[in-house]
Amino acid sequence: MIAAVASGKGGTGKTTVTASLATVWGGPLVAVDLDVEEPNLHLFLRPTIEGREKAHLTVPVVDEARCNCCRACADLCQFAAISVMGSVILTFPEMCHGCGGCFAVCPEKALSCGQRELGEISWGRSGPVDFLSGRLRVGEAMSPPLMRRVKGRLQQMLGSVGGDAIIDAPPGVSCPAVNAVLDSDVILLVTEPTPFGFYDFRLAWQAFAPLGKPLGVVVNRAGLGHDAVYRFCRDQGLPLLAEIPYDRDIAAAYARGRIVADLSPELRETFLSLRGKIGDLARQCRPRKAVHA
Ligand code: SF4
Ligand code: SF4
Repeated sequence: MIAAVASGKGGTGKTTVTASLATVWGGPLVAVDLDVEEPNLHLFLRPTIEGREKAHLTVPVVDEARCNCCRACADLCQFAAISVMGSVILTFPEMCHGCGGCFAVCPEKALSCGQRELGEISWGRSGPVDFLSGRLRVGEAMSPPLMRRVKGRLQQMLGSVGGDAIIDAPPGVSCPAVNAVLDSDVILLVTEPTPFGFYDFRLAWQAFAPLGKPLGVVVNRAGLGHDAVYRFCRDQGLPLLAEIPYDRDIAAAYARGRIVADLSPELRETFLSLRGKIGDLARQCRPRKAVHA
């Protein structure tokens, strides 16, 4: 089973939930930080890092001696990463999405493979839990290519040791957030009972519900008083799987990098119960296909 923990906006407690679930999971588990622009799961799980590798995207490099400036590559590229002006050809590696189309259409075989560094992938162990994370290079604008590399390694890890995975997804509803949940069997939406929280929660539901995966809701900072999230869940038939109370001690512990499930027997029971409900939800899903590369 792959469970993705998502939210419509940052700061709702997505990583709190992911780290606590990893702590109580009770079986082989890979905890994955796919929030590659701002990874912070390691601050809570404090893994021993056992390996790192750089990830790269293949970008075109022009052999000007071969190029006849026919424009086929520039006309094909949807991202303006190649431009031909008269007898001059220019490439813009930072705009390349690595689709490979230009290589395929060049009649002169004038393009060779260069590399743009995307960022770094690291992996290791946090107690009984396997840990995997990506970190985008500073200045790199596109996170999905690095996320795909992280997911490729996740597929290898699950293939060799089996078990489950829990993914800390990027916040929001843009391309990286959707990319992060695509391979999951179940999606947890973490929200908070505030007007802002509800607004972004509804956006997240609109983005993720069409994927057709089982969705469950976790309300963090429960007790703040705004009830629109609860009414929406009732109206849409969305299961409310857990509530984490609004509590100064929880906030203080979180700020120190402590795992919320470890703070009291009651909170541990909350996350144990949540883990069971995730399993129940995932069983509604058809058998998992290969992770998207
Ligand atoms: S690989 Fe794709 S995105 Fe990159 S320059 Fe070639 S056609 Fe454009
Ligand atoms: S398709 Fe090949 S030959 Fe034509 S402009 Fe591009 S690199 Fe040059």
